[in-house]
Amino acid sequence: MPAPHDVVIVGGGNAGISLAGRLRRIGCRDVVVIAPDEDHRYRPLLNFVAGGQASLATLSRPMRAVIPDGCTWIPQRAVAVDTDTREVELETGERVGYVDLVLAPGLEPDLEATPGLAEAMALGWSTTSYLTSSAEAAWDAIRETRHGRVVFTIPPEPAPAGGTALKPLFLACDHWRAHGVLGDIDVHLVTPFASVLDLPFVDRRLEPHLERFDVTVHHRATVEALDPHARSVTLRTEDGQHVLEDVERAFVVPHWRAPGWVAPLAGDGTGGLIDVDPATLAHRSAPGVWSLGDVAALQTRPSGGALRRQVDVLADNIRRSRTGESLKTYDGYTIIPIAVDRRRLLLAEFDRTGTPRPTVRRVDLTVPRRSLWAFDRYLEPVVYYRALLKGRV
Ligand SMILES: Cc1cc2nc3c(=O)[nH]c(=O)nc-3n(C[C@H](O)[C@H](O)[C@H](O)COP(=O)(O)OP(=O)(O)OC[C@H]3O[C@@H](n4cnc5c(N)ncnc54)[C@H](O)[C@@H]3O)c2cc1C
Repeated sequence: MPAPHDVVIVGGGNAGISLAGRLRRIGCRDVVVIAPDEDHRYRPLLNFVAGGQASLATLSRPMRAVIPDGCTWIPQRAVAVDTDTREVELETGERVGYVDLVLAPGLEPDLEATPGLAEAMALGWSTTSYLTSSAEAAWDAIRETRHGRVVFTIPPEPAPAGGTALKPLFLACDHWRAHGVLGDIDVHLVTPFASVLDLPFVDRRLEPHLERFDVTVHHRATVEALDPHARSVTLRTEDGQHVLEDVERAFVVPHWRAPGWVAPLAGDGTGGLIDVDPATLAHRSAPGVWSLGDVAALQTRPSGGALRRQVDVLADNIRRSRTGESLKTYDGYTIIPIAVDRRRLLLAEFDRTGTPRPTVRRVDLTVPRRSLWAFDRYLEPVVYYRALLKGRV
C-alpha cells in the first residue's frame, strides 16, 4: 500500500486549483489534484458571452497549464470517499490515500428538476449563460429577438453566483434599447427572492435599472416547467401557479445540486451540500476532511470571489490543525458583480448575514461604474489566471 499523500484535492475548478496553489506557496510539498477535465474554465465570462461581450475561446486554458508547479495531477474522476481508510476512490477503481482531503467538485446542473427544460434547450427555444454549451446560443437568441415576451431567471440557491444571472438580462435590455426594439419586447424576471436579491443595499441600486428597462419582476417565484411547443413557462409562486404564455425566448438558468457521490458527507438540512463547519471549513464528523467552494455548506451565496477568503482560511487551517493552533474563521464573505447595462457594473460584497462587507472604503462599489465593468470584463480574468489560481491573492 503506497504512503498516503499529504493533501489530496478533488476538483480542478476555481476552488481546487487556487487552494493547490496556496498550499504550495505555504510549503506543502505533496499536493495531489484529482481533476478529470482537459480544460479549466473561467466561468464568470460566460455571462459576457451570453451578453455578446466575450467569446467562448477566451474562457479556457488547458488544465495542464493551470495545475500549480509541483502538484501532482490525476486526470480522473473521484467516485467515493472512504473516511475510515482515508482514501478516495477513482472511477478506474484505484484508491488514493490522504492525510488531509479537500472536496471541491462544485455543483452540477439539474436539468431534470425542471420538466421541459432539457427539450426546450435542445430545440433552442430556451438558452442560458450558465452552461458552456448554451452561452453562445443565448447571445444568438438575444440578437435575433426583435419583439415578443422574454423570460429571464435568477436560480434558487444553491447556485454558482446565482445573482450574476442578472448580467445577461441587463446586457440584453441595453442591446435591445440601442437597436430601438426594447419597446416591442416584454421582459420578465423570475426571482426566488422577496425583493430582487434580498439584499436591500444592492436591491435599491438595481430597482431603478429594472424600471428603466420596464422589466416585470415575479418575486418569490421559480420556474416549475417549460413547454417549448406551447411556448409557455409555468412559475411556482407563493399564490400557486402562474403561467406565462406566448414566450418568444426563455433564458432559464437550471437548478443546481451537489454531485450524488458526496451524499455520505452531506448532513441533515444541508440540501446535499458537504457538511462542514461554515467558519473553519472542517467537516463536522470526518477527521481530515475539508471542503470549500460551491459544494460546501457555508451558509452564504457561492461565488468565485468568496474563494479568495475561503482559500486563505482553509490552507492555513490545514496547517493549524497539524500544529494544534486554533483555527481561522471565514465570515461568509461573498460577491456578486452585476452589469446594469453594456458599459456599467456594480459589485455587491457581503457576508453570510447579508451585511455589506466592502473591500474598498473610499468608493461605493455598489454604484454602477464604467471602471467596474472594465475591471470585471477585462482585468479580472487576467488576475484570475495570473494570481488567483496560483494562490497569490
Ligand atoms: C455563468 C456563471 C457566472 C458566474 N459569474 C461569477 C462572477 O461574476 N463572479 C464570481 O465571483 N463568481 C461567478 N461565478 C461563480 C464561480 O464560477 C463559482 O463560484 C466557482 O467556479 C466555484 O468554484 P468551485 O471550484 O467550487 O466549482 P467549479 O468551478 O464548478 O469546479 C469544480 C470542478 O470539479 C470538477 N469535478 C466535478 N466532479 C468531480 C469528480 N467527481 N472528481 C473530480 N473532479 C470533479 C469539475 O469538473 C470542475 O472542474 C459564476 C458561475 C457561473 C456558472
